[in-house]
Amino acid sequence: MTEEKFMLKLNNFINGNFVSPVDDVYMNNYNPSTGEVYSMVPDSSDKDVELAVEAASKALAGWSAKSPAERSVYLYRIADLIEKHIGHLSEAESKDQGKTIKTARTVDIPRSAANFRFYAGQILYTTEPSSAHHVMGQEYLNYTIRAPVGVCGLISPWNLPLYLLTWKIAPAIALGNTCVCKPSEITPMTAFILCDILNEAGLPPGVVNMVFGTGPRAGSALVQHPKVPCISFTGGTKTGEVITKLSSPYHKKLSLELGGKNPAIVFDDCNFEECVEVLVRSSFSNQGEICLCNSRIFVQDTVYERFVEKFVERVKQLKVGDPADETCDMGALISEDHLKKIEYYVDLAKQEGGRIMCGGQRAQVGDADSKFRKGYFYQPTVIVDCKPDSRTMQEEIFGPVVGIYHFSTEQQALSYANDIQYGLSSSVWTKDLDKAHRVAAKVECGICWVNCWMVRDLKTPFGGSKASGVGREGGLHSVEFYTECKNICIKLGK
Ligand code: NAD
Repeated sequence: MTEEKFMLKLNNFINGNFVSPVDDVYMNNYNPSTGEVYSMVPDSSDKDVELAVEAASKALAGWSAKSPAERSVYLYRIADLIEKHIGHLSEAESKDQGKTIKTARTVDIPRSAANFRFYAGQILYTTEPSSAHHVMGQEYLNYTIRAPVGVCGLISPWNLPLYLLTWKIAPAIALGNTCVCKPSEITPMTAFILCDILNEAGLPPGVVNMVFGTGPRAGSALVQHPKVPCISFTGGTKTGEVITKLSSPYHKKLSLELGGKNPAIVFDDCNFEECVEVLVRSSFSNQGEICLCNSRIFVQDTVYERFVEKFVERVKQLKVGDPADETCDMGALISEDHLKKIEYYVDLAKQEGGRIMCGGQRAQVGDADSKFRKGYFYQPTVIVDCKPDSRTMQEEIFGPVVGIYHFSTEQQALSYANDIQYGLSSSVWTKDLDKAHRVAAKVECGICWVNCWMVRDLKTPFGGSKASGVGREGGLHSVEFYTECKNICIKLGK
């Protein structure tokens, strides 16, 4: 596979070929568990974006002319190949991102394959080009056709590198578009390996192009390219604002999947043991670096103390360490900057009256001379007593830090959960079905889980409300986003 072939120097993937960036400038990419350089990644510029857009534009006519059945063959093949290379991809994802290899192998990589398989099936069964039609008063026939949008710009973050990138590529190409991808510059490795897989699957050149580089240089060139009519972006809320502004003169179709600060609401009539178990997982999976992780837990005061005690006891059992160690629950944080951001927020929490119930400092992994001593490890951290309107409970930390607070009534729980700029996901814990429906309907977010977490059906809409995003993807919502519809009205002869 590519990683061995090119070892540490990655290249852009344009028109089916691996090519150096035009300016021949590369950046270091680090392995967060050791702080060592893992690869050298192109620091691409607008010139590379130009070449990639040109290749994607050329490939568009041929690719969009293929039938859904023809396109689906490629998507199924790509899914099979991702599964075939799961060992290699999981290892690369873990070294690049810091996540445990177990998480990469059981979540990220299988879900990446599932993205291709799902959209391969969906185009066969639900998206024939014409849709609703009707005759108006026997005189006019109205019908609607859908066409690909064109060259899609797909920009993804570092936390679930392959999973979130393929979440965009699969529907975009399934629906007849071509694309230029700009993966996160700090986790480029599995995107790079995917390019090899696309060639192995025989995907026509130019259908998927990959430009590696930073957001302000390569990313913003893509966002502002006049021949890219559609941008799907997943990342931070602030970056989403920048992208909205940069793209507005071009009137692009935009999908923004942004930050969150997800609440869990725990009522005293929940299945207590199961709730604690799942919330530990939903707080600290992938070091808390999943946009869907919950970071605010509101617990009914009647079970509050019991909950905190049990939760903290369970969190203390989590093992932080070498991501390749199958017994570890948490690996390294993505970067030194991110580690410092976590430290900043834990200090802030103390200033805001928070009590650190466990964690609250870097985790030491290995012996004094171990290579992991230079890694970015942090202990899973539980904070209580920060008020719901404190900065600790309002701002996205995006790491292994969770705040717990108490409430007395359903109304109070809802106001704590909703009184925030974000609205990505939430979870509600109760055995009372009426209450579950009531609260789920009122909590402001794009996805609400009741008595479970992160169960995903790709047919359902995904996205956030408020500052957590604009638009939805998934299932028919992706069909909407990655196609333009056109109404045709024909006068019928008499
Ligand atoms: P980020 O916004 O810094 O970067 C995301 C991507 O955007 C990267 O590829 C980056 O290079 C690019 N980018 C940065 N500036 C750009 C610009 N000016 N123009 C174009 N592209 C630009 O986010 P991140 O730190 O990589 O990821 C973490 C954030 O992503 C968190 O806020 C997290 O909540 C969010 N996230 C959201 C979801 C979701 O589905 N809502 C999923 C995962 C992560």
